[in-house]
Amino acid sequence: MDGEAEKRGVGAPDEGTGPHPMSGGRTAGEESALMSPRISTVLFDLDGTLLHVDVEGFFPDYFGRLADWLKPYLTPDEFTPRLMASTARMVADRDPARTNAEVFLAAFFDGLDLTPETLLPVFDAFYREEFPKLARHARPAPGAREVVSKVLESGRRAVIATSPVFPRAAILERLRWAGLDDLPFALITSYENMHFCKPHREYYAEIVARLGCEPGECLMVGNDVEEDLAAQDAGIRVLLVGPNIIHRGRRPSTPDYEGTLDDLLFILDGVVPPRSAGT
Ligand SMILES: [Mg+2]
Repeated sequence: MDGEAEKRGVGAPDEGTGPHPMSGGRTAGEESALMSPRISTVLFDLDGTLLHVDVEGFFPDYFGRLADWLKPYLTPDEFTPRLMASTARMVADRDPARTNAEVFLAAFFDGLDLTPETLLPVFDAFYREEFPKLARHARPAPGAREVVSKVLESGRRAVIATSPVFPRAAILERLRWAGLDDLPFALITSYENMHFCKPHREYYAEIVARLGCEPGECLMVGNDVEEDLAAQDAGIRVLLVGPNIIHRGRRPSTPDYEGTLDDLLFILDGVVPPRSAGT
């Protein structure tokens, strides 16, 4: 964002054409960089952001229970590598014509002597009856419900932008664990309704297109440098929230904002300018 577009104030807010309260002594160009468009939509990551999950307990328990559940149909030695390979195929896929579920299921059933008609009801029953028992590995992030509620009360839209590699039933259950399942989200991404996964920029572009808004009026809130900062590749600013920041070193950590969930409310009020504007 430099050059003519910035000088003309493209993306500047309708209101508040005066100097930013924190702009003291800056040139006009620097000042326009401080004036962020109003955020209309907040995208929230779930795990590590709104929901604290003990991943070392959760994932072995999850995959162990799922493998046990499927034992009448597939041995764990057949099931687990197939699950991992199909998941990897889904995460890598960037075909806009196929949903994540379609990619996953095509890979999972490829060369298998079982049909989706047989196995899908078994998966559905697992998410209904067994998955809720994993709640003991998770607890709401402190203040999560209050922060999301305040975003909604301010008239903004909230989106659950969690990695769309799980069925909607599993994501709704995890929203229950976070104490958020009754809130009116504008969109909850799941493997049924998305065509891309994090960290592809297309995942974020699809959310923006689905909502019919501009990337510049969205803010992504997440704890994962690779997966959540990928929103920047789609033109969306990012608040990286601690204390559970994940950084695998595959991408420089250059969030627009960094802080806690509570800091979000100050950012939305315009009290905290983006990092790039403050230097
Ligand atoms: Mg996360």
